[in-house]
Amino acid sequence: MRDGRLLWLELLRRRRALLRREHGRALRRTQVLPARERDVPRGLPGLRLMVEELLRGHDAFKRQYLGDERAFLQRLASEGQSPAALYVGCSDSRVVPEVLTKSSPGDLFVIRNVANLVPRLEHADASVGAALEYAVGHLHVPHLIVCGHYGCGGVRAVIDGLDHVAELPSLREWLELVGPAVARARSSGLTGDALWRRAVEENVVDQLEQVTTFPSVTAALGSGRLELHGWVYDLFSLELSVLDRQAGRFVDAADFLEAVVSRRFPPR
Ligand SMILES: [Zn+2]
Repeated sequence: MRDGRLLWLELLRRRRALLRREHGRALRRTQVLPARERDVPRGLPGLRLMVEELLRGHDAFKRQYLGDERAFLQRLASEGQSPAALYVGCSDSRVVPEVLTKSSPGDLFVIRNVANLVPRLEHADASVGAALEYAVGHLHVPHLIVCGHYGCGGVRAVIDGLDHVAELPSLREWLELVGPAVARARSSGLTGDALWRRAVEENVVDQLEQVTTFPSVTAALGSGRLELHGWVYDLFSLELSVLDRQAGRFVDAADFLEAVVSRRFPPR
């Protein structure tokens, strides 16, 4: 009886090993490659991920994390989240916060919507406010980042005139919130891409003001346990700009970081 059970276990072990090898070969054949390495027929439509590829991607993610990061993920699951920042960004599929900051699960509490907006407290849409209040008032995140991006289609739509999206009433109503930023950018006399870039920056500045309509934010700012940050990511160069409040403009993130570090640790 015991020998029979051992034989059965051995057969099961071999069967599992065989399946793992086959599964591994299949995954290697079909692994999700970076867009530039995929066999893209021609043009952007070919870059679209099929759902099948997303599922394979999840499988690869699971194998990686269960292999290398199991203890980390289990601690994260059992101890709850304590993210380093609330990140408010655009829904644009090209601006992925975890990718562009090389963050791990648990690092960022994320709100994403068209044109990275935080409507004022009195706005009818409670979705953004709910996430913001939870992150700031309950999770006590120490940083709140609003990240816009050059090349933002939402901001562009406002520059071009919202009549272009008249057949999309929810989008039109939402994007009206970008109006003041575009108006300020226009008043500077800029046109074309320069106007678009300035409007993206002004829009980030507006959101940083609008988060302060929430009592949980003003309380956290008042007690010194929350810092606000404005970022703009460049889709084309991959560079990140950050709002330098003292200079009153967006500056290169690497330069800003260097300045912050040298202020914190002045050379002797
Ligand atoms: Zn956008």
